[in-house]
Amino acid sequence: MATGKINVSVENIFPLIKKFLYSDHEIFLRELISNATDATLKLKHLAAIGEAKVDYGHPIIEVKVDKEGKKLHIIDQGIGMTEEEVKKYINDIAFSGAEEFLNKYEDGAKDSGIIGHFGLGFYSAFMVAEKVEILTKSYKKDAEPVHWSCDGSPNFTLTEGKKEDHGTEIILHIAEDSTEFLEDNRISELLKKYNKFMPIPIKFGTKTETLPKPEDAKEDDPAPTQEVDNIINNPDPAWTKQPTELEEKDYKEFYRELYPMQFEEPLFHIHLNVDYPFNLTGILYFPKLTNDLNIQKDKIQLYQNQVFVTDNVEGIVPEFLTMLRGVIDSPDIPLNVSRSYLQADGAVKKIASYITRKVADKLNSLFKDNREDFEKKWNDIKIVIEYGMLSEDKFYDKAEKFALYPTVDGDYFTFEELQEKVKDKQTDKDDKLVILYASDKEAQHSYIQAAKAKGYEVLLLDSPIIGHLMQKMETSKDKVSFARVDADQVDNLIKKEDTAISKLSDEEKEKLKSNLEEVIENKGYTVQLEAMDSDASPFIITEPEFMRRMKE
Ligand code: ADP
Ligand code: MG
Repeated sequence: MATGKINVSVENIFPLIKKFLYSDHEIFLRELISNATDATLKLKHLAAIGEAKVDYGHPIIEVKVDKEGKKLHIIDQGIGMTEEEVKKYINDIAFSGAEEFLNKYEDGAKDSGIIGHFGLGFYSAFMVAEKVEILTKSYKKDAEPVHWSCDGSPNFTLTEGKKEDHGTEIILHIAEDSTEFLEDNRISELLKKYNKFMPIPIKFGTKTETLPKPEDAKEDDPAPTQEVDNIINNPDPAWTKQPTELEEKDYKEFYRELYPMQFEEPLFHIHLNVDYPFNLTGILYFPKLTNDLNIQKDKIQLYQNQVFVTDNVEGIVPEFLTMLRGVIDSPDIPLNVSRSYLQADGAVKKIASYITRKVADKLNSLFKDNREDFEKKWNDIKIVIEYGMLSEDKFYDKAEKFALYPTVDGDYFTFEELQEKVKDKQTDKDDKLVILYASDKEAQHSYIQAAKAKGYEVLLLDSPIIGHLMQKMETSKDKVSFARVDADQVDNLIKKEDTAISKLSDEEKEKLKSNLEEVIENKGYTVQLEAMDSDASPFIITEPEFMRRMKE
């Protein structure tokens, strides 16, 4: 057996890049537009501090498809590069970057999901192009334009170029197997996916705009039109602004922008905004949720400096919050690592706990500021809150203040209020508080009536995870237990008053009881003969709470 080190030489990098990045070819466009954006923002900065003696103006980035010439152009008006800079940043750095990528890949990062986040940058162009040209002119005084060209081998040419204004044009000669990137629709789809909120306006073609008719126009004169730039992005999305700059309607508009196909209004939003000890901005929305735990996740979009990265926030946002929608933007989330690493990362842990705290604080203030409204929304948000209480202890502690327990009659109590309310009547012989609940108002109607006739409070708890949450509360709280209204515990409550108004004689009762017991075969059920009130049943059949939970 022989061992040795695979020598990664520049000669064979391109075929490898192509192969390993296969599933994520499309990210080349995001990378090139990110570079164009960086170049523009750098110029903005240099102009602002007086180092670049240029008029910054209103630069845009343009994407152009030349279907006939099989070329894709990405054009910016940024700082551009001098010949030295092209040599340094494009030749040297990129090659070493590609090598580094391969070394990392060798280290076993075989999880295809992570590759898209490697930020291979400029050289990702070779995933779709057989030849790449750069035409660039630096903003610097007297800089000469440069033309760089490379066909994917390490041999490039660098010659004098022809360019009037500062900035860079990248020209991709699209390869035979990538002609999809010469389709307007495909490019448009990619721009919408990755670049919708990038900070520099991005032009893709033009569109026709209808102008208002001039006053002296005749009735059947057509309205005048004009061709204008088709700008595909919103460079100032809501989450980049301060909460004080935004009104309720702005948040709703932004929700619509994020989810154009979503017709329901969000219930409320949470604006995230922190710059120490990590940088994070974003807006989260609570959508109307149902009891269905399989509701669509992956609705939160993750950005880095306004560049879309992924809509899979698993490992970054606590699981229970993945049911929310919205945007998180942070340059501090290390994305070129696997998900399991992410979960262990200190910065990511801090981010997760910050988000959890913000969500809890927002819920708490909604509860305090307008309880009535909070109660109305409870049914639509409870699943997230209950799930959070179950899975995150820190959230549980905060949520105790605002988590609500609705009764069958439509009252809403916090746990503390509930405790106060039932402590006199609903204790068992061990002095344990017994909280009664129904899970189905129709099916358990007679039990509910029976319990109410005895003066008990009956909650209506019907979400799919409530059983687990009750268990958690029973173990974390002293002397509290939950029992469904059809459980036999109900009859063990010591302070109950006997309200039975049965008209049967003792003998008749015995007979009925034994008849019924025969029918139910005594499978852990108990028969009780009572007519609790006018519309209650003459008898009820109960089952121990623990037996029922075992079956769930
Ligand atoms: P990164 O963006 O992570 O630095 P890239 O491989 O994407 O890595 O780009 C390498 C370098 O090439 C950039 O840092 C920048 O200096 C230069 N560069 C790339 N594209 C442009 C551009 N459009 N305008 C000016 N410089 C650019
Ligand atoms: Mg880059």
